[in-house]
Amino acid sequence: MLAPSTCPPVADIVALMMQVSATADPMAAHPVRATPRSSTGGPSNNAAIHRTLERHQAIVVGAGSAGLAAAVALQGRGFETVVLEKGEGVGMSWRSRYAELRLNSWRPMSKLQGRGMPRSYGRYPSRDDVVTYLESFARCHEVSVRFATQVLGVHHDGDLWRLEAPTRAMLCRYLVIATGWDTVPDMPSWPGAGTYRKGLMHSSQFANASAFAGRDVLVVGAGNSGFDIASHLVRAGARVTMSMRTPPNIAARDLKGIPGQPVLVYLGDHLPEKLADAIFRIAQRVTFGDLSRYGIPRAPGGVYANHRQHGRSPAIDDGFVSAIKRGEARVVGPVERFDGDDVVLVDGARLHPDSVICATGYRRGLESLVGDLGVLGDDGVPIHHAGAPEHPRAPRLYFCGMWGPFSGQIRLGPIHARRIARAAAVDRRMRYRVFAGI
Ligand SMILES: Cc1cc2nc3c(=O)[nH]c(=O)nc-3n(C[C@H](O)[C@H](O)[C@H](O)COP(=O)(O)OP(=O)(O)OC[C@H]3O[C@@H](n4cnc5c(N)ncnc54)[C@H](O)[C@@H]3O)c2cc1C
Repeated sequence: MLAPSTCPPVADIVALMMQVSATADPMAAHPVRATPRSSTGGPSNNAAIHRTLERHQAIVVGAGSAGLAAAVALQGRGFETVVLEKGEGVGMSWRSRYAELRLNSWRPMSKLQGRGMPRSYGRYPSRDDVVTYLESFARCHEVSVRFATQVLGVHHDGDLWRLEAPTRAMLCRYLVIATGWDTVPDMPSWPGAGTYRKGLMHSSQFANASAFAGRDVLVVGAGNSGFDIASHLVRAGARVTMSMRTPPNIAARDLKGIPGQPVLVYLGDHLPEKLADAIFRIAQRVTFGDLSRYGIPRAPGGVYANHRQHGRSPAIDDGFVSAIKRGEARVVGPVERFDGDDVVLVDGARLHPDSVICATGYRRGLESLVGDLGVLGDDGVPIHHAGAPEHPRAPRLYFCGMWGPFSGQIRLGPIHARRIARAAAVDRRMRYRVFAGI
């Protein structure tokens, strides 16, 4: 358990600051709009909709690691902050992931502000450890979370932000979107998929490997999730085939007992991209040898170049490559279509798996929330994704954790959160000066 003594003793002081700044905030002068509004932001004609309109200084959407980090950073700057979470607890995305999942990122590099995960969690904490850690973090910092509150849309309302939730609307001056990087499962639409009567699922629906013992399983996708799920399936006694479209760069989770992730991050942060790519390629070759005879040719492009150009991270190996070499798993080409219970590959080969698990990634799913504000790129990623500064078209609307760095999103959350809280504090200071006529 995390020791409560690690809670900052300044909680009372922060609460006091929040009270003071809440009363002093010029936003308090903003009139509450009496007319209910439609989900598009225009006045609603539906007299049946009588929702309360709450006001907060700062609202954070999403109570995952990034949202909690943002709330704590804002609270630390004296902002009255509430977190809106559509689920029933903090860390909802971790709660719903498969039982065998452990962090790929090294424990010391996966911490939120001020407090690391306990050593007892091991080098790579489990899914349940992550949930416990997030619960403890939220409790310790007295983060105010409103559960079962899904934000459906965000609109300008004068110089405030208006959030629409099913039973209420809310106003705030500072808004942080922290709804997650891996939000909407990206499921391929193969011809004939509807004719397959066995189990076809996205990796987000995969609950545990032991249920697949003794079965033929096709894992589609040779990325991080694909490698991880495949290695758990092999350990559980499934016969695994991996369908690969693009050969990945592969990084060992541990190199002779040393965690690979810090080395990966260090090289990327300190060396020119070409040199870092070359060193990684040599390390990969020394670690795994030539994998082309096992159906995994050299990845097109270096690991760092791929990440910069396509946002693609390396596949982290924790035993799957050894399983392939031992003949306990194999790699085949991409899927073209389904034909009844057959899976037909692009090269014409037919497979008859008992289950197909699509480890084909996620989208951000921000379009419904902020799609009409002009803050998203064509790929659905916020154009200004690094916390702060925010997009000029959307002042005081920040995104937290909306990037996929080598070091993992958990580590990214507090970095973005600090920038956001600093920018909001600067904005508030400028506002006071104008308000006070200084
Ligand atoms: C299989 C897998 C393994 C991973 N392993 C690692 C790892 O080892 N290390 C690492 O750093 N990262 C890892 N990640 C990335 C992972 O996304 C982060 O660990 C972390 O969950 C990101 O936190 P977040 O707060 O940005 O997003 P999330 O944890 O996804 O939290 C977003 C929250 O927002 C809520 N929400 C969404 N939409 C709304 C809405 N409209 N209204 C209200 N609430 C909403 C969700 O319910 C959720 O609770 C992994 C991801 C996957 C899929």
